[in-house]
Amino acid sequence: MDPLKYLERELDDLRERGLFRWPRLLESPQEPVARYDGKEVVNLCSNNYLGLANHPTLKEAARRAIDELGVGSGAVRTIAGNMAIHKQVEQELARFKHTEATLLYQSGFTANAGTVAAILGKDDVIISDELNHASIIDGARLSGATKKIYPHKDTTAARHLLEESRGVRHVLLISDGVFSMDGDIAPLPELVALAEEFGAIMMVDDAHASGVLGRAGRGTVDHFNLHGRVHVQVGTLSKAFACQGGYVAGSQVLVDFLIHRARPLLFSTSHPPSVAATALAAVRLVQDQPEIIERLWDNTKFFKRGLMQLGFNTGASETPITPVIVGDERLAMDLSDQLFQAGVFALGIAFPTVPRGKARVRTIVTAGHTREDLQKALDAFNRVGRALKLI
Ligand SMILES: *Cc1c(COP(=O)(O)O)cnc(C)c1O
Repeated sequence: MDPLKYLERELDDLRERGLFRWPRLLESPQEPVARYDGKEVVNLCSNNYLGLANHPTLKEAARRAIDELGVGSGAVRTIAGNMAIHKQVEQELARFKHTEATLLYQSGFTANAGTVAAILGKDDVIISDELNHASIIDGARLSGATKKIYPHKDTTAARHLLEESRGVRHVLLISDGVFSMDGDIAPLPELVALAEEFGAIMMVDDAHASGVLGRAGRGTVDHFNLHGRVHVQVGTLSKAFACQGGYVAGSQVLVDFLIHRARPLLFSTSHPPSVAATALAAVRLVQDQPEIIERLWDNTKFFKRGLMQLGFNTGASETPITPVIVGDERLAMDLSDQLFQAGVFALGIAFPTVPRGKARVRTIVTAGHTREDLQKALDAFNRVGRALKLI
């Protein structure tokens, strides 16, 4: 008797609901038009917002780092893997974010989970938006703190939770800056004011805002001009900055504490130098060429307007992430499959990634898409949407 047999039952359930699927295979570089499963498609699935994943300047930076520094750091940061190139990225990011200090993590996921788990303990409270990212939820679990969840963007409910947490040792108010499945922006000015009123720690996860929102893509704190008022900012290097990694930006005290206590830094190897060098080149490139971000937003407005004019439900999106919400899981998968046949890759997303009854196809445009690419995608959405009676 195979003790893993029970896994098969769960898979059967997925198959019955039409949700069993292996991810499509990318057979080209990550580009706005890419080859998946042998087919050239307009790619509306990547987080390669600025089209940098295959950029010559970044590739050259990675190659040079390999030549000069090798392919691996050889140890965790806190033992022998703390390389000068890691430090350089942190200094560049601190300048970029206008914070005292930053600290690199292996990913945005470990930055969130590792930081939340390090700064909170079981006597503390975390007050969190219901749509916050899984890495925040996991960090909260690892910390042992009491979780209090408020309905999406409901600052009145957040206030009630802060009120009932008076007297608690440490209270963390935490929100995604841009929500990854809906593309809407957190009410950060209101949240910051609440955190200040109640003496809570304010933390924002800017994975989808990094390189997208604010001047030169500095994130939601810059977008809302809240510099100096958010204690912990998490950013990613894996999306707009096109390589791999995450970071925390904040005070020197925060960073000094995390390097001693954040478990991903203590127990998992640091980035290869090529990854750090790529990140450094990406952050510099975006500051030198902010027009790339303008292109991203021009494309965003064009595509979002197009989808809305066709009559799709795009929810509350305000960013390059535009969901096409259809509700039914199977319908979302059918829409995605038929779009793919028509040469457009837009992923179907269902529970548990989004709430039940809110299944959707999610689109993300990039600065690298041409108007022809986006028009082709809109034409496909029109044809398939009509065939499925969605519009
Ligand atoms: C992608 C994402 C992360 C994780 O970032 P990685 O660098 O890919 O690990 C964290 N938070 C949010 C909101 C995200 O969308």
